[in-house]
Formats: sequence, structure tokens, C-alpha cells
Amino acid sequence: MQAPNFYAHPGCARAGRRRRDTGWIVERITDPASLFVPVWRNQNLVIEFDGTEPRAVVLAAAALGPSLTPAEERLARGEVVFLGVVEERAHFALDLSPLEAPLDTLRSPAMAASGIGAGVRFTDLRQLGGRIERREGALLALARAMLFWHARHRFCGLCGNPTRSEEAGHMRRCTEPACNTMHFPRTDPAVIMLVSDGERALMGRSKHFPPGMYSTLAGFVEPGESLEMAVAREVREETGIEVGAVHYHSSQPWPFPANIMLGFHAQALTTEITVDYGELEDARWLDRHWLLAHADDDSFRMPRLDSIARRLIEDWLQGRIETG
Ligand SMILES: [Zn+2]
Repeated sequence: MQAPNFYAHPGCARAGRRRRDTGWIVERITDPASLFVPVWRNQNLVIEFDGTEPRAVVLAAAALGPSLTPAEERLARGEVVFLGVVEERAHFALDLSPLEAPLDTLRSPAMAASGIGAGVRFTDLRQLGGRIERREGALLALARAMLFWHARHRFCGLCGNPTRSEEAGHMRRCTEPACNTMHFPRTDPAVIMLVSDGERALMGRSKHFPPGMYSTLAGFVEPGESLEMAVAREVREETGIEVGAVHYHSSQPWPFPANIMLGFHAQALTTEITVDYGELEDARWLDRHWLLAHADDDSFRMPRLDSIARRLIEDWLQGRIETG
């Protein structure tokens, strides 16, 4: 298997069969060896000093004390979610969103063991731009994704009654007995594609991008559509280019907020660009040699290092991809 993309890492065994073993889960919550990944309003806890790489901050049960009990209630509200086992230690996501000042709480006398000190902060994982170690980035991404889902599924989409978390946070069930509907975590598929006519790549620029940044085209998969059809439709809608052969490359969890990016290379059949300015600010063909020679600056820069877009482009530039 090729190396996984950023935010995907095989280091966490999900131990799915343990999720229904509530006794084992509750024991793990108070097990001194277990670790908790705190999330506050979609932000992750990291430690970073000037000139060093950011590191994930995870907390032991002893450090959290009163915020974990009663464990069954925290589980039922979806504030504690079992993520899996890393190096024989159970890992949980812990939602601190109800707190107004979570760092103050973690520094309180009741949680003196948490050891939260200088350089520790909550931050949007996306802002770290892949500077965090890969295994830690994947763990933070998973914790964020699970708690994002819980926060948005507190009520049943069928009958509107409250839901409660089951299976250690991997399912929510409607509390209205006549309804009893089960709701499962969502990840919404999006296609992302490097379109090439041979020596040139089609890249676009959204007005939300950083100065100078161009990237591969991307878009959501719609109901009733195959991935290949979604690739062709998005490219046609955004640039007017028609594509022929579409080849799968790799995928990437993208919890910003709840997507999986499905990466493709596609062969262009036409070359005349018609930009949809509702979607893009610009789109253009970029020559392979020009891209290889260009340094990142405000006149032109590549997509961020942690993105599958960058990987699709780099693999094409290095000749590891055949689009024709
Ligand atoms: Zn319901």
C-alpha cells in the first residue's frame, strides 16, 4: 500500500467490537493508562514554542478527575467518545465545548495533575498546515471529526426528539421509543482531481485561497452520481473542460468539517477554459516545467503540504502518474 495521505494513519486500532462492551469502556475511562484527546469547539489542544513543531496534548484520566464522572452520563451525551487503542492504551475524545475558558479549568486546583502550562493552546488543526507529526495529526483529526458529528446530531432528523450516544460514541439513537432511529457518524464524499492534457495541468483559484495559491479542482459528489461522473461534472461546470479517462489515486480524511477527499487524475479532451466565476476567481493551464521551476511566493504558490491536492500535483510533476 502506498503511504497514506495526511490525517490518515494506521497507528490507531479502532477496536470496533469493544464499542458495545460498555463495562470495558467505562473501566477504560477511569484507567490511569488511558488517554484523552481534548476538543473545544472544533479546536484541538497543542503545545508549541517558537521554532519547534507543534505537538498534540493528550491528558490522562488522573489529570481530568471530576470532568470524567459519571462516565456513563458523559458517554450518553457524546462528550466522551472511544477512538481506539494506540500502543495498548485506550484513547478517547473529550468534548470540553460547554466550558467558557477550558484552559483555566484545566489549570484549576481540581485538575492540577493536567500540567497545562506555557505554550499550550486550543487551535484549529487546519491552521497547523501539516506541521504536526502525522500520527498525532490523524488522532486530532479523528477526535475533532467525531465530536463535530455529535454536536450536530443531538436531535433526531426524523421526529425531532433528542438523541443519545451509544456504542461508545459511534452511534446516536432517538430517545422517542416509537421512533428509535439509529444515526451513524457521517463523512461526506468530495472528489478532487488533477486534470492534465499531457504537459499541462489545469488548476483553479478560489477567492478564499491565500494570495497566489492555485489548486486542483474539487467538488461534492451528488446523490445518484458515480465518482467518475462527479469528476467530469465538476470540471465541466467550473472550467468548461471535458475529461476522458478518470483514474483513482488515493483518498484523504478531511475533517474540515466532515469530508473524505477522493483523489483522481483525469485526462483532458478539450483545452479551452470557460471559468465559472461563481465558483472560481481564475483557472488556467500550467506547464509542468514552469511548475517545477517556480518557487512559492505571492505571485504563485502550490496548495498546502498536508493536502491531497499537493500530492496529486507532486505525483504528476514527478512523472509517477499517467493521465493519457
Ligand atoms: Zn426520532
